[in-house]
Amino acid sequence: MPSGLIIKALSGFYYVLPEDEHNMVSIQCRARGIFKKRGESPLVGDRVKYELTDNGEGTVDEILPRISELVRPPIANVELAVLVFAVQEPALNLQLLDKFLVHTESSGLHTIICLTKQDLIEEIPCPVVSLEEESSVNLLDEKDIPQTMQEVVRMYEAIGYQVVVTSAKLGIGIDTVLDRLAGHISVFAGQSGVGKSSLLNAMVPGLQLETNQISMKLGRGKHTTRHVELIRLHNGGLVADTPGFSSLDFMQVKEAEDLSDSFKEFRPYSAQCKFRGCVHLHEPECKVIEATQAGHIAPSRYKHYLHFLGEIKDRKRRY
Ligand code: GDP
Ligand code: ZN
Repeated sequence: MPSGLIIKALSGFYYVLPEDEHNMVSIQCRARGIFKKRGESPLVGDRVKYELTDNGEGTVDEILPRISELVRPPIANVELAVLVFAVQEPALNLQLLDKFLVHTESSGLHTIICLTKQDLIEEIPCPVVSLEEESSVNLLDEKDIPQTMQEVVRMYEAIGYQVVVTSAKLGIGIDTVLDRLAGHISVFAGQSGVGKSSLLNAMVPGLQLETNQISMKLGRGKHTTRHVELIRLHNGGLVADTPGFSSLDFMQVKEAEDLSDSFKEFRPYSAQCKFRGCVHLHEPECKVIEATQAGHIAPSRYKHYLHFLGEIKDRKRRY
């Protein structure tokens, strides 16, 4: 039985791209009834076995094992998230960036950070986030917040993230992002208006995603039955046409330990904290706090960690 990849789901049909062909024409398929009985359904991104029927259509017979399953958008086998943030318009919000990173890390996705609208760069006015938790580290110092785009880039590169600076307007950095997407299924995530659609349009000749917030709201956002589709790149990469992680309320991250784990530069230190289950707030001999004080962990990262810890605790109190 031939195998293929579902690149689109719409009105009960699955569009399967045959794996062994290069003509790039997808086959319209129905799913076998057996899936429904088992409470399963194929997802865009699934590798499947299918059978051709007489009318040139097909039937999805078997879903091959998934390596991941994303809820928003509902896509299987996503490997990479591209977190898109503008350097200006809207202003760069590092707390939101760190929140997205918690989501991608806790979902087990590789992540790259893309700073868009490079053509608008001057100095980045970073938002100062108020501390909800008392901590033994005083981090409210202005100098602890990265002030320029270069500092932001250096900070995230030091953690181990690839940071690509782009301008869809000037065509800067587009090929670097494109190269990274080769051979993977990816999602783009970020606030509306940061330039996700513009970036995708710049990467795919002929693609014409709508590119401004207002038309997104009036147009695509209005439809209740939005379909999910993977956009094909010339290098074999596939990108979701809808942004990922639109709800960012930490539903996946339930425990403080999971939060701490998703700050990946904390890991070598938190493994050595004196107390098991240390949440790095004001426990004695906390190696994460020590590393922050010694300058090995960026103060803004630790500060955002505390902020999110507060959010998780609040939620626990409420429910
Ligand atoms: P999305 O909501 O994240 O998909 O963002 P869009 O791609 O729709 O872009 C939002 C607005 O930013 C549009 O008015 C774009 O023209 C503008 N924009 C996108 N990329 C750039 C860029 O590289 N430079 C500048 N100056 N504007 C951009
Ligand atoms: Zn600790």
